[in-house]
Amino acid sequence: MAFFQDIFSIFQKKDLPFIESFQEAEGVYTFRFEKSEDVTWKAGQHGLFTITHQKIKNHTRPFTIASAPEENVIQITMKISDNPSEFKKAMLSLTKVDTIKMAGPIGSFYLKEDSPTMLIAGGIGITPFRSIIQQIEAEGNSNNKQIQLMYLDSNKSYIFQDELDQIAKETSVNVTYLHERDHLNKELDKCISSYSNDGHFFVAGPKSMVDATTTYLQTQKVPKRNIKKDVMFGY
Ligand SMILES: Cc1cc2nc3c(=O)[nH]c(=O)nc-3n(C[C@H](O)[C@H](O)[C@H](O)COP(=O)(O)OP(=O)(O)OC[C@H]3O[C@@H](n4cnc5c(N)ncnc54)[C@H](O)[C@@H]3O)c2cc1C
Repeated sequence: MAFFQDIFSIFQKKDLPFIESFQEAEGVYTFRFEKSEDVTWKAGQHGLFTITHQKIKNHTRPFTIASAPEENVIQITMKISDNPSEFKKAMLSLTKVDTIKMAGPIGSFYLKEDSPTMLIAGGIGITPFRSIIQQIEAEGNSNNKQIQLMYLDSNKSYIFQDELDQIAKETSVNVTYLHERDHLNKELDKCISSYSNDGHFFVAGPKSMVDATTTYLQTQKVPKRNIKKDVMFGY
C-alpha cells in the first residue's frame, strides 16, 4: 500500500517558494521553503527536489524533509563541500523570487508503533530525526513514547544540538551524543538488553554507517523486521 502511495505522490509535484537559507555548521546549510495548505508529510519522509530557476544537468536529488509538518515550513538541510555539485551551487544561489519543485513525500521511514524506539543518526542522518522529534514535541508528548536518540559524529559536529537538547528537556526523548562506534555499540547493547524483541531501531546516515549499524544489530539478534533504514546515498 505504502508503495502505491509513493508512486502516486511522486507525480504530485509542488512549487515551493524559497524563504531563506543559512549556514547551520561548517559545510552544512539549511534551506526553508513555504508550505502550502495542500502539502503534508509524515515526519521522517523525504521528497525529490528539483532545481527550476537555472538550467542544470542533474537537477533532482532526494532530501529528507527535516521539518515537522506542524512547523508550517519545508526545511531541507544538506552537506555542501568547498567544491559543490552543480545542484548544490544552484541551491546556494536561490533568491526570494525563486521556487524549487518537490515531488513526494515518499518513504516509510516514520514512527508507526508505540513500542520503545531507538533513533540512530550518523552525521547528516540526523535530518529525519529532527523532523520526528519536532513532531513529538508538537504533539505534546501526550503518549509519553519511549524514544532514545543516539547521534554519532566522529567530528563531534552535532547539528541541531541546541534544539535537540531543548526538546529533550521538554519531552520523554533522550539524546546521547557519541563520536566513536564502540560507544554507539555499547549504547545499543543496553537498549537491546532492556527491550529485547520489543525495541524498534531506526538508522539513518551514509551507507557505510547504516550498513555497519544494521550488521551489528543483527549479530546481536535484533529481528530484521524491527530495523528500519534510511540510506543517504551520495556520501
Ligand atoms: C532518502 C534520501 C534522503 C537524503 N537526505 C539527505 C539530507 O537530508 N541531507 C543531505 O545532505 N543529503 C541527503 N541525501 C543525499 C543527497 O540526495 C545527495 O545524494 C547528496 O547530498 C550528494 O549530492 P551532491 O549533489 O553533493 O553530489 P552528487 O554529485 O549527486 O554525487 C556525489 C557522489 O555520490 C554518487 N551518488 C549520488 N547519488 C547517488 C545515488 N542515489 N546512489 C548511488 N550513488 C549516488 C555520485 O555518483 C557521486 O560519486 C539523501 C539521500 C537519500 C537517498
